[in-house]
Amino acid sequence: MLSAALKADDDYKDYGVNCDKMASEIEDHIYQELKSTDMKYRNRVRSRISNLKDPRNPGLRRNVLSGAISAGLIAKMTAEEMASDELRELRNAMTQEAIREHQMAKTGGTTTDLFQCSKCKKKNCTYNQVQTRSADEPMTTFVLCNECGNRWKFC
Ligand SMILES: [Zn+2]
Repeated sequence: MLSAALKADDDYKDYGVNCDKMASEIEDHIYQELKSTDMKYRNRVRSRISNLKDPRNPGLRRNVLSGAISAGLIAKMTAEEMASDELRELRNAMTQEAIREHQMAKTGGTTTDLFQCSKCKKKNCTYNQVQTRSADEPMTTFVLCNECGNRWKFC
């Protein structure tokens, strides 16, 4: 089954990889680590399979086929590490947003009665303008309601 996952598309032909051999190498590494073929082992193998044949994540399969990710490494990668570039970027974006919000909380921003909170309808907010992308794009305004802690943003 691991071998079939490696053959999920025709990439393996380009790399001239013997998928059966590679699959058994990966299995071997997992077995060496877990020293059994119990549930844990089966779950580990299964998660490799689902990630390797994930159509949204061809990069992982190619990296394994090309050897950029060794059999030993793919054998023990976490779900997070195997996640597709797309998912990884999404996670990074979310982290960056969290960092910005944190910075805003720390620097305090500017207190204003210019904005009305949609939750508590009060006009006691702190705002901060941040250049989120490139310099020629409009600033994003992050607003924090000082009354109820509601946060929102707009461009
Ligand atoms: Zn509020």
